[in-house]
Amino acid sequence: MAHSQPSSPEISPQDPRALRKALRGSATYFAKGFEEHKDQVQSDLQTTYKSPLVEQIRAQSYRYQQGEITIRLAKAFGFCWGVERAVEYAYEARRRFPDRQLWITNEIIHNPLVNQHLEAMGIRFVGKGPDGKKDFSQIQPQDVVLWPAFGASVSEMEFFRSQGNEIVDTTCPWVSRVWNQVDKHRAAQFTSVIHGKYNHEETLATSSFAQKYLVVLNLEEAEWVARYILEGGDAADFQQRFSKATSPGFDPDQDLERIGIANQTTMLEGETRAIAKLFETTMLRKYGPQQLDDHFMSFNTICNATQERQDAMFELIEDPLDVMVVIGGFNSSNTTHLQEIALEKGLPSFHIDGPDCIQPGNRIRHKPLHQDITVTEGWLPNGPVQIGITSGASTPDRVVEEVIRRIFALREPSELPF
Ligand code: SF4
Repeated sequence: MAHSQPSSPEISPQDPRALRKALRGSATYFAKGFEEHKDQVQSDLQTTYKSPLVEQIRAQSYRYQQGEITIRLAKAFGFCWGVERAVEYAYEARRRFPDRQLWITNEIIHNPLVNQHLEAMGIRFVGKGPDGKKDFSQIQPQDVVLWPAFGASVSEMEFFRSQGNEIVDTTCPWVSRVWNQVDKHRAAQFTSVIHGKYNHEETLATSSFAQKYLVVLNLEEAEWVARYILEGGDAADFQQRFSKATSPGFDPDQDLERIGIANQTTMLEGETRAIAKLFETTMLRKYGPQQLDDHFMSFNTICNATQERQDAMFELIEDPLDVMVVIGGFNSSNTTHLQEIALEKGLPSFHIDGPDCIQPGNRIRHKPLHQDITVTEGWLPNGPVQIGITSGASTPDRVVEEVIRRIFALREPSELPF
């Protein structure tokens, strides 16, 4: 039997808080992995994703030199614990349900290598239908469904619960923490103002928990909204500008009177803070200190893994580098932000998604910021060169190792010590 696409998040009849509670009490819902398979899976992951070379470079003050090339690694990069946990749960689920069809409602994380491995294990990814929406029609009630680290929307939760699927939830606890804040906004009838990308999986899930929401991409958009709050403006213009980034029927003249701040966990931390501060000041100016709490809510829900990687990037680029290589899925938000940091410093920086991007003849396949993937020739300067390397939270060390090998191979056959 074909199953239809679940209803859109905003018209889900379910109370999200009650739905999550019902799921937690259900015998078909697993959110802590499978203890009995942990040891074997740890060993599998160690072999598949860890890198002795990267461990060695870490132990050598994050620096490795061979010939004229010096590699300098950021002090925090790669797999965060939320991603490690999601991958671990997926591997454990495969062992727990060896004869069942497993589905992931999206890429479990934004890393092509990890997703290829999962596919090779027979785990299928939900595709999109002609309308661009996820197509759940092939998922049968007896199948097992994995929710990725970014979570699932309220309507997806409701769909799989009512269909009776066994559910393995790998949602990162930092993402659930944001949902808890949005729950609070909803309970207090506040609008959630979410710093994020309106079409990012995580933000789609987060916004589905809100009664009313507005997604702002950056400080510039937030400033535009703040001016509207203070000075008013043309509601139709507002609605058109944020047509894809607001809940249905959003009325800026009413729905911005009480606002709470939430964030996509992988946005630039400094910008999230600046946006929260901006709206706090805006509501303070509009309503005065006595009434601020009736109009504004904000809690720190910034993921510390994202923060650590951003801080390490700032530290890495303090010393002179000739070129920067940022490794991570091309659709990975936290990787893109690392790339932004390098570019703001004026450093030549290449965002690649794996070792295949380093090509013979000093060519590199990469994705310039906000542009399509391209190939650049002669990217590695001649003579002594200092190369900074970092990777996004979804990138295994094994990928970083292979990138390093290929960079050395551009100059001379590698004699790496492993
Ligand atoms: S980057 Fe942060 S929020 Fe995202 S999976 Fe990792 S720990 Fe969780």
